[in-house]
Amino acid sequence: MPALKIIIEPDPRHGTISQRLRKKSLPVETIDEGVRTLARDMFVTLMDANGVGLAAPQVGIYKRLIVVYLPAGYDDEDDPEISLALVNPEIQRAGGRNVEAEGCLSFPDLYGDVQRYANVTIRTQDIDGNTLKIKARGLLARVLQHEIDHLDGILYFDRMEDYSSLRYPTRTPSGDDDEPANEPVTASSRAV
Ligand SMILES: [Zn+2]
Repeated sequence: MPALKIIIEPDPRHGTISQRLRKKSLPVETIDEGVRTLARDMFVTLMDANGVGLAAPQVGIYKRLIVVYLPAGYDDEDDPEISLALVNPEIQRAGGRNVEAEGCLSFPDLYGDVQRYANVTIRTQDIDGNTLKIKARGLLARVLQHEIDHLDGILYFDRMEDYSSLRYPTRTPSGDDDEPANEPVTASSRAV
């Protein structure tokens, strides 16, 4: 399965974002073998990039399809590993708010603080065409909101009041960085 090429765009403070990540993606009408192959290739691409989420428009395919991978223990020690490929996902309910650092595979190494819903309920199809509901909180809720935004051409820094929190965390040889120490795995340590 080939890895796909992720669209990379410039730092929004210093360059113009092309329309490639701004287009609205179309609903998937038929979940066929082509869609399943695309989902598999996107998953390989996500793993190669060491990310936690990828949306089809990030590889130049304007279909409402996202993949998510969270390692075990992503929020709490006993959280199981999560691998999802979701077709036509939409947010049905949302509540609470929180602010966390977030990055995006299309803007390498850049992070910023984004306010999002703390809890979401998603209605979606899986790649076998089954309709399901996913209740998510924590990092999963954040990643799902980030990826669904991609399907509408919305980028994480569009959700910021200003760009003052955008930064490139610098890592020292000791492995320390300037990210908060209480975030073992967050969208700030693995981009989406
Ligand atoms: Zn992204």
